[in-house]
Amino acid sequence: MTTRRSLALAAVLGLAALLIGGGLLWLGRNDDEIPGVTYRPVYVDAGPMLHLVDVLSSDALEGRASGTPGGEAARGFIRKRFEDIGLRPWLDSGWEHPVTILPREGIEEPGPGANLIAWVPGKTPGEGPMLVVTAHYDHLGIRNGEIYNGADDNASGCGALVAIAEYFANHPPVHDMMFVALDGEEIGFLGANALMRDPAIPLDRMALDINLDMVSRSEAGELYASGLYHFPDLAPMITKIAATAPVRLLTGHDRPEDGLNDWTLQSDHAVFFKAGIPFLYFGVEDHPGYHQPSDDFSEITPDFYVRAADTLVQVVLAADARLPQIYALRRAPDAAVQQEGIPE
Ligand SMILES: [Zn+2]
Repeated sequence: MTTRRSLALAAVLGLAALLIGGGLLWLGRNDDEIPGVTYRPVYVDAGPMLHLVDVLSSDALEGRASGTPGGEAARGFIRKRFEDIGLRPWLDSGWEHPVTILPREGIEEPGPGANLIAWVPGKTPGEGPMLVVTAHYDHLGIRNGEIYNGADDNASGCGALVAIAEYFANHPPVHDMMFVALDGEEIGFLGANALMRDPAIPLDRMALDINLDMVSRSEAGELYASGLYHFPDLAPMITKIAATAPVRLLTGHDRPEDGLNDWTLQSDHAVFFKAGIPFLYFGVEDHPGYHQPSDDFSEITPDFYVRAADTLVQVVLAADARLPQIYALRRAPDAAVQQEGIPE
């Protein structure tokens, strides 16, 4: 770390400490007093979840670009939550799974990148099919002097990932679950690709990737479960949850004929899909804040977000209950992509 980077990081962390102080007041409130939230969640702890999104999308973190002090600070906050809710690191070496960040325009001397990998043991730790929940924490950083805070994209996925992990830390699952906060999504799925290359990650045990990317902003109250076109056997599970879910749980955005609205290859789940591992991607329709400086915490729809997170716990519960059957849906690497005629 250069001196300049150390100073920048110190400044970021100093500002962030102020934010945490403010957040502690918020955490002391009851769920029914959270601004904009009337829904009473069944599974998730809404206060800390919203607070993490608020912190990650604050100006102090400067848009969380991979290889910047803001990205490093974001990692620190997520790691702290992982520790506080009692998760354990998957790797013997600790929480951080290195991701190489190459120099790019505006970030000529990037710092180190890293995924954060936590796990919640199932009934037979270290054995059998496992489920992985992913959400990227990086965003676009500062461009033309404007901070791209990325509240929905994807501080929201990180907040939900931690909230889901906390539920399962307190209600142990049947199968091992891995929770991964991914780096480098915005610059080419670098973190997800790093997982594929590391023998410490048991890809042969992976039954399903549940990827969360933009789950907090929908005026219409609509959350999409995408990927059923490729894995139609997962449809009954989603249909059943949708019937009683606290959001409008829709499906789609996963057919080649959807063109740019086909989300199959548009976030980290694409890397799992290409490896032959079934996936479900959860996200909202593009909104005016998508990849804009206006993707701010003040613009998310908190009541929808809490409903979405509760729905996601139900999805993970249902997947855990039938994980061996889902594991059987695996394909040879790249076979799925070739069968669907999707360009690389
Ligand atoms: Zn994203």
